[in-house]
Amino acid sequence: MKYTRSSALFANAEQVIPGGVNSPVRAFKAVGGTPIFIKEAKGAYLIDEDDNTFIDYINSWGPMILGHAYQPVVDAIIEKAKLGTSFGAPTEIETEIAALAVSMVPNIDKIRFVNSGTEACMSAVRLARGYTGKEKIIKFAGCYHGHSDSFLIQAGSGAVTFGSPNSPGVTNGTAQDTLLAKYNDIDHVKSIIEANPNDIACIILEPVAGNMGCVPPQANFLQKLRALCDEHNILLVFDEVMTGFRLARGGAQELFNVKADIVCFGKVIGGGLPVGAFAASEEIMNYLAPLGPVYQAGTLSGNPLAMAAGLAMLKALESDAEIFNRLAEKTEYLHKGITKVLNDHKIVHTINRVGSMISVHFSGTPVVDFETSAKGNNENFKTFFHGMLNQGVYIAPSAFETWFITDALTYEDLDKTINAVHKVASTLQ
Ligand code: PLP
Repeated sequence: MKYTRSSALFANAEQVIPGGVNSPVRAFKAVGGTPIFIKEAKGAYLIDEDDNTFIDYINSWGPMILGHAYQPVVDAIIEKAKLGTSFGAPTEIETEIAALAVSMVPNIDKIRFVNSGTEACMSAVRLARGYTGKEKIIKFAGCYHGHSDSFLIQAGSGAVTFGSPNSPGVTNGTAQDTLLAKYNDIDHVKSIIEANPNDIACIILEPVAGNMGCVPPQANFLQKLRALCDEHNILLVFDEVMTGFRLARGGAQELFNVKADIVCFGKVIGGGLPVGAFAASEEIMNYLAPLGPVYQAGTLSGNPLAMAAGLAMLKALESDAEIFNRLAEKTEYLHKGITKVLNDHKIVHTINRVGSMISVHFSGTPVVDFETSAKGNNENFKTFFHGMLNQGVYIAPSAFETWFITDALTYEDLDKTINAVHKVASTLQ
């Protein structure tokens, strides 16, 4: 494959945009080479500026659960845009999508829309602090909750890919209020709580981690966190920016039957436009301004285009009783296919999967937390990434990310992907 035009565009971008990208995860710095520049996308495919076509497993890092340029979403955006793009005043569609979201997700009465997952998590933590009157939070190594200061403490995703899990610019004061726990290690969480008995406002986590590869919660980990929170008067915050409206209609709360106190959303809920949201019981949400003392706001929050895209997306998911099973079945098919190929080639690996999230790790150790996720053979990952790209399969340019399966992917696409793994496997160690 040739990437001539992408390379030229990247060189231009580097002149005026730091690293040539507006979000570091898009750079190929960790795997080498220059990022491909995308011209358009439809269904399961991306087409780059050199007219190469790729089967897409990034899917804008999660939102495109129904594939690219999904017609009802595109139509909804176009129709709304004709009426004006933002008014800074309430619109009916905000209530429509809020009511639908509240009806689909368990344990929430009210929801507020923001413009990104970062904002959702940042606001959720402020709300938890305001509601409980406590200041510290517990976060897990390898979980990523956006780029707000409190979360850049052993953060996953691009933060770890590019060597800044603890970013300069975060003050010591802020960092001290984020207590760091090991994912899937309930005893570690207990010991942190015991050392800070009355100080912890909330525990925030990805109920299925997707930013250190895909790392499922081990048996009853979420239930045990719930019990600890109840015992110590701590709020449990599920960051469902990735898992919300992806693992089930009601997200991880539904899949694992665990109640969270505050839930954060992003990605799918915006149908591909910049949207985040956070939600909780009426009592907690009424702590927000203008009803309560906790301040949170946004010029473009709930703007009609974003709400139209999100509403069309949620309606499509809500009306399709089989979608989440279908996605999980496709993911399982891919999992089995890749496992067989890598085993046939005697490549040491671990594959993790939950619903439509899957990650391939070049390590024989079970991947259960940040430490074990970091054990993968990075040389193999780089070779795998470029090999797959040259076979027309676009996966994240980092071993710390998840692949997202969409409804647009056909079994033929999955077979092509497995076949690509077969071709690439002989180049791995
Ligand atoms: N939370 C999780 C679990 C995420 O995966 C991400 C982004 O990847 C975020 C929060 C931040 O969302 P955004 O990039 O929309 O700010």
